[in-house]
Amino acid sequence: MSNIVVIGTGMAGFGAAHRLNAAGVRPVVYDQNGYFGGHTASFRDEASGFLFDLGPHISFTKDPRIQELLARFVNQEFEALQVKLDNYWRGLRLTHPVQLHLNGLPKDLIVEIIADFVKVHDQQEPRIANYEEWLIASYGRRFAELFPMQYTRKYHLTTASNMSTDWLGPRMYRPSLEELLRGALAPWAPEVHYITHFRYPKAGGFLSYLAPFPGLADIRLQHQVVAVDPAARALRFSNGQSIGYGALVSSIPLPVLIPMIAGVPADVIAAAKRLACSTCVLVNVGLDRADLSEGQITYIYDEDICFTRLSFPHMLSATNAPPGCGSIQAEVYFSDKYRPLTQSPEAIIDQVIADLHRCGIVRDSDRILFRGAKIVRHANVIFDLDRSAALATVHGYLDDVGIKYCGRYGDWGYMWTDESFISGERAAEAALTSVSRAA
Ligand SMILES: Cc1cc2nc3c(=O)[nH]c(=O)nc-3n(C[C@H](O)[C@H](O)[C@H](O)COP(=O)(O)OP(=O)(O)OC[C@H]3O[C@@H](n4cnc5c(N)ncnc54)[C@H](O)[C@@H]3O)c2cc1C
Repeated sequence: MSNIVVIGTGMAGFGAAHRLNAAGVRPVVYDQNGYFGGHTASFRDEASGFLFDLGPHISFTKDPRIQELLARFVNQEFEALQVKLDNYWRGLRLTHPVQLHLNGLPKDLIVEIIADFVKVHDQQEPRIANYEEWLIASYGRRFAELFPMQYTRKYHLTTASNMSTDWLGPRMYRPSLEELLRGALAPWAPEVHYITHFRYPKAGGFLSYLAPFPGLADIRLQHQVVAVDPAARALRFSNGQSIGYGALVSSIPLPVLIPMIAGVPADVIAAAKRLACSTCVLVNVGLDRADLSEGQITYIYDEDICFTRLSFPHMLSATNAPPGCGSIQAEVYFSDKYRPLTQSPEAIIDQVIADLHRCGIVRDSDRILFRGAKIVRHANVIFDLDRSAALATVHGYLDDVGIKYCGRYGDWGYMWTDESFISGERAAEAALTSVSRAA
């Protein structure tokens, strides 16, 4: 039973280890990094005292079981905060989501948006072939082009017409005409966003949620898997070491996992290549001033501003920055398939700081106490029109060779931390079943 091997120490690996422990199995969990936590790692710069997560991470799970588990993992020491989101568009700060708060926009534009909205509102719901058609049918062309279609090019790095709609869930709110008009006439505060409140550890950054992980598993860091032989049930690491396994649970990104599997057919390799993902360059800035923003997260629409989202880690926990100081994390997106990263991190930091000045978020009088960048190679799965068929081929093959996949990059979905954890639990469950069948 104990020869279940888990790859990856992110939320999915954590979920797998948690489930295996419940079955009395203490797994070995390997990770290529020198730290555990994957995307949910947090890093404090000891010299300046600023802490940054590996991308803005807040817990907004609605699942009571996961809420309770996470609270226990941090000994009930978490902040519970009301989410405050806003938008930056051509120098304006607009309440989120913009479609419910048009009142901040120029009057002529509001009229154009409403006129277009009424046109589609009165039509019979059309057959939707892609995200662009969904946007136009939901909001009218003027709004769709100015806001979500522009944001899509920055965040998903492709056009809305090249995207499916199977990732939407509750993410994009479709207002009624009455809601649109109310928000156009005056400020109001409808609670329609799918996130209204969130939790965040009081100390230690988001990684604190994973504090029990080393107690649940034998974690082996700096072990990069480079070859998998499902017939021989063996793994090889870049350090030359090889091990056997009874069952394998992998949270490795599929385009990385597939080419390392012995005997993988060419069509599966080709399918894995078609899976698109964004790379995020996170630029972290620490300042000697804390009053940087009203909201914890700001979405940036303008395509001539390099970052897509800004978050303010000092607003999540007071322990994320020295007293009286503030911090900014900017996300700048690239994609091997659609917009390859060619600049150096230093050049991107310079560009981000210049754009923060242009947006009026950093002032000339501010002192920059910390600046740095981290590259997140696999950030968001891109739901382009290739994804669905390519994923079916890849998952079908992994099912055939008995590799249990999990997490955001194993399931290859738009998954939050709670979903990645649950996915890890499920993969562990499947591994337990397969080893007990084989016994
Ligand atoms: C910018 C950004 C912001 C986000 N914000 C939120 C948020 O606010 N709230 C939320 O709930 N979710 C958020 N998410 C989603 C969240 O990060 C993921 O759902 C979750 O962290 C994924 O966990 P995982 O274990 O599936 O993947 P990962 O954390 O990536 O874990 C996979 C692990 O596998 C290891 N690995 C990969 N290849 C190999 C190999 N060859 N050998 C050995 N090890 C390997 C990696 O080093 C990594 O540690 C955000 C994601 C991003 C990108």
